Amino acid sequence: MLQRRIARMFCLFAALAAFAAGAPLLAQDNLVQGHLAQDNLAQDHLAQGKKLRAALDALIAAYPDALAGHDATRLRWRDGTLMRLADGDENKTVAELLRHASIIDQLRLPYPRGPLDKPPAADADPGRYRDTAFFTKMYGDCHKGAVAPHLVSLPWLPKTWGKSIRITSINGVDKELRAVSAEIDALPDKIKHAAYPIAGTYNCRAVADTGEPSPHSYGIAIDLNTAFSDYWYWRPHDGPIVYRNRMPQQIVSIFEKHGFIWGGKWYHYDTMHFEYRPELLGAH
Ligand SMILES: [Zn+2]
Repeated sequence: MLQRRIARMFCLFAALAAFAAGAPLLAQDNLVQGHLAQDNLAQDHLAQGKKLRAALDALIAAYPDALAGHDATRLRWRDGTLMRLADGDENKTVAELLRHASIIDQLRLPYPRGPLDKPPAADADPGRYRDTAFFTKMYGDCHKGAVAPHLVSLPWLPKTWGKSIRITSINGVDKELRAVSAEIDALPDKIKHAAYPIAGTYNCRAVADTGEPSPHSYGIAIDLNTAFSDYWYWRPHDGPIVYRNRMPQQIVSIFEKHGFIWGGKWYHYDTMHFEYRPELLGAH
């Protein structure tokens, strides 16, 4: 047990070492490969390190107004703030990841863009691990009144429903949601009905099952029509969760195109829920 824990810790350090950008990474690669050519474990570490570095690069690219870069251990914000990428705990349970995610934790699970070919695997909730410090720094703490000043109003589906909704303007989330609204508004009535009336956007509250701040509390999320939605928490959940979905793929695809992930791709599914997480979608 102890041995495995030490091996996992070594794996994290090796992965972090592999973050070093550009030439240093190549030097690191050569060094490690030279010394441990037969060691498959080392190859795994390098692969993991490269994957994590790519995910971090995608994070920086997704928020150009806020983030300046990263090194092997820290994220650098444009205002000079430095944040640790990892918190040293490599053995978190899923429950712990949902409550105490680091920046690296929140990038661990790849988000599958496009139509799902099968229900999400057990406990696979890509995007549901969130580092509270990261999002609070980015969008503000709603309990301190820091989110509301950035909220703007826009008409949701102006040709069909047209009621005003509020969303943050930070990172241009409002502009992306306005574009989503226009595209859904052009869909056939039968399909777009899943998108209105909406169940909510900004709401200073916690996630029901974790107690952590909801993405709604940052003004980056929208819940669509509950009459077309399924939420694991509303159903009996003392055994394996049975996947359900009635949200049309056309709507999901439009959101993903504009940088929003969908809660229907989580084992703990929430099919009315969309939140702005462009770092998980690559270029959009
Ligand atoms: Zn939601």
